Amino acid sequence: MIQADANLIRQALDEADIVPLTMSLVQITGDRSWLDRIAPHIRGAWDYMQSVPDALAAEIRQALAAEIEKGGEARLANPDQDTLQHMLGVAVGAQVSAEYIPLIIEQIGFQPSAKMPQETRQAAPRSDISAIIIGAGASGVCASIRFRQAGIPHVIFEKNEDVGGTWFENRYPGCAVDTPNHFYQYSFEPNNDWPNYYSRRESINDYIGAVARKHDVRAAVRFRTEVVSARYDEQRAMWQVQVRTNQGLETHEANILVTAVGQLNRPAIPPIPGLEDFRGTHIHTAAWHDGIDIRNKRVALIGTGASAIQVGPAMVNDVAELKILQRSAPWVVRSPNIHRLVTDGKKWALKELPFYAQWYRFQLFWGFADGLFPALKIDPNWNDDNRSINAWNARLREGMVRYIERELEGRPDLIEKAVPDYPPYGKRVLADCGWYKMLRRDHVQLIDDQIERIVPEGIRLVGGEVVAVDVIVFATGFHAAKMLWPMEIAGRGGVTIRDVWGDDNPRAYLGMTARDFPNLFVLYGPNTGLGHGGSAIFLAECQVNFVTMCIDMMRSRQAREFEVRREVADAYQTTMDEELKGLVWSHPAVRSWYKNKSGRIVINQPWRLIDYWNATRAPNPDDYELS
Ligand code: NAP
Repeated sequence: MIQADANLIRQALDEADIVPLTMSLVQITGDRSWLDRIAPHIRGAWDYMQSVPDALAAEIRQALAAEIEKGGEARLANPDQDTLQHMLGVAVGAQVSAEYIPLIIEQIGFQPSAKMPQETRQAAPRSDISAIIIGAGASGVCASIRFRQAGIPHVIFEKNEDVGGTWFENRYPGCAVDTPNHFYQYSFEPNNDWPNYYSRRESINDYIGAVARKHDVRAAVRFRTEVVSARYDEQRAMWQVQVRTNQGLETHEANILVTAVGQLNRPAIPPIPGLEDFRGTHIHTAAWHDGIDIRNKRVALIGTGASAIQVGPAMVNDVAELKILQRSAPWVVRSPNIHRLVTDGKKWALKELPFYAQWYRFQLFWGFADGLFPALKIDPNWNDDNRSINAWNARLREGMVRYIERELEGRPDLIEKAVPDYPPYGKRVLADCGWYKMLRRDHVQLIDDQIERIVPEGIRLVGGEVVAVDVIVFATGFHAAKMLWPMEIAGRGGVTIRDVWGDDNPRAYLGMTARDFPNLFVLYGPNTGLGHGGSAIFLAECQVNFVTMCIDMMRSRQAREFEVRREVADAYQTTMDEELKGLVWSHPAVRSWYKNKSGRIVINQPWRLIDYWNATRAPNPDDYELS
């Protein structure tokens, strides 16, 4: 069954996590009694939530070693539904409802997905319906692979000189994925060779590049080509797309327009007065380049969100002073694996030990996604002075505060500033990559007085103090709510996206299709962000599947035009807005970029991953007008 050096096998069994090892053992031997033996010791999906006694763990490892030596076929390769459900529940110490089984089988890789290609092949075009995809990031690459498989001729316009999108662009020190990597990957291209549990941007960019190479995506891409505008020609049911290249402007046409530009594509520098007078250098994290020199400089870091908490600890050793300007404190949680390398033994287990990788991925899926969802629901009878929203949320909060207090022990001044004044999950919860240890350093100052203006020598605070600095790093996020900007997109009757969405009120059915914009599909559009966890690549796969099936529906009905029914889109919006009101992001104590100026959540979806996965399995023909 398995060929490997005995030492490597021993090392792998020692290093690999005990729960997925047990699940492997059960599937290889068919002996379910192991499940009963470990079940009482598992309280959650993460490895640190199990307390399998050492003697039992040693027995499991020994039994597996013996099986590997013996070789032979696995006796429980395809467990029936009930057995699989029972195993899933044991693996994460929770009830896993049967509704998850089809998703888990497809997404976690228990069986190869029928939806996505395992190998590169190009289907002959099955009709003259063609598509333009804007952007060759994780979503655009996924769309190209699937369109190719479905025989949909397409071109991708990409403003950069290579694929990768956000991972190509973001080069600030410390930039890495903050979703567990073995889950943050295409389900159809699992990578068991990730160097880290949370790999650096270069590794993720390389991965997307390698997937693109394997599926020959670059052949469909026009690089250094930025889409400026798109206009729908109603007579011909065609999108006319204007692009800018270094040769000037060009116009291209296709029936279908798919935007795959994401929400986090246009860096936002807040309109703080006086920036033009600043004598030093300033940079946005998303625009970082090699020319920025922070060594031995006095640096101000504005913002304490996902980018800031990575760039701060990564810069701290190089700078003379680091002044952190905090508007609101983030929830930053213990993350033991954040800097750890995946050991060779563990990589071997992921690659070679039957079923191990699937179980490991399932644990990540559960621990990092829907398993958390109940903690986000506002309990209307819960009253905790804006600190938490339900009993589970309160327990999580206690653990998070305890962690902050431990990390900042002896520094009550810092603890007071660092504990957020809103419930956990109100904003993205961040994995600690050295944030609190950085705050304790002598040359670091956490400033929570607010910024009044920028002056030639630095930043003047509302209290009057001037923070003198040489470099200002803006880790201040993106123009997320102004989706699709700065492209100008005009639909039926010349109505533009900005006419309909304004600056910050985007709306789309399932986040993808909008009335008056026939044949337009938006990937990672309005209310699709995953606020409780999950992976943006999972989201991309759901949406790309859906779009492909919509185009299939057009082809099978020989339709030229596809448009969501107004009443369907409106009803969806009403239901979604109601759902959102019951979730933590809407809590009055939370101020975040998830909300637009009028307080409506426009970024996140209120659904569990399973709900969105089900909703995007196939379009409902009754939802659309086809002609
Ligand atoms: P962000 O999380 O929105 O953080 C922006 C920060 O800037 C916040 O602390 C915000 O304060 C502050 N800010 C904004 N305007 C300000 C102003 N006028 N004055 C003072 N402070 C101001 O942005 P981000 O860190 O770039 O992250 C955005 C998203 O990108 C993340 O949620 C995540 O989805 C993604 N991301 C992912 C990774 C990863 O996977 N590793 C890394 C980075 C980013 P308030 O909190 O008070 O609003």
